[in-house]
Amino acid sequence: MNLEELARQFRKLPGVGPRTAEKMAYAWLTMEHREAEEFISTLEKFRRNIRFCDRCHNLTVNQDLCDICRDPRREKSIVVVESPQDVENIEQAGIYHGYYHVLHGLVSPRRGVTPQDLFIDDLVERITKEGIKEVIIATSFTLEGDLTADYVARRLRGLDVPVYRIGTGLPVGGELNYADKATLRAAFITRQKVGDQSDQEGHNG
Ligand SMILES: [Zn+2]
Repeated sequence: MNLEELARQFRKLPGVGPRTAEKMAYAWLTMEHREAEEFISTLEKFRRNIRFCDRCHNLTVNQDLCDICRDPRREKSIVVVESPQDVENIEQAGIYHGYYHVLHGLVSPRRGVTPQDLFIDDLVERITKEGIKEVIIATSFTLEGDLTADYVARRLRGLDVPVYRIGTGLPVGGELNYADKATLRAAFITRQKVGDQSDQEGHNG
């Protein structure tokens, strides 16, 4: 048993290199006993009780609906994102006060992910059922993010709801995960309506 063995565990986390992992391992070893116990019990609790919200598929602890879906004061809009991490980032930025819908992935021919693998069908249902007034697609500006945004926008065509995509506040090829608050804010402000010009198939419901 040595520090290296412990550091290897920390390195499993994203963004943790060997140096940081070693620091974390040392901090963990020298942490006060009670604090360390709390750390372990929190890790265990989340691992055991975490699940996905029945409605928006965001993370939730021990309840069917997440805190956001349970809040009736939010605006009747939905931001469509790839992962629960995106929800967290947007919430932290404090730029949006509606609901979310987490797809849990992006359409990817390369990785064999089809729209049927994502939570898209129930997004369509939600819009009518919940009286949603606006949808904002906030997938990354990558090939996969674009494919997904196009597909979602096409599925929502014909519903009586305006659909937007977040704007170019994000760099091309940019992943939403890494956007800072200011960039994220710019992306929301510069959002653009989808499907107005290029809607050649017409509205067929
Ligand atoms: Zn939810």
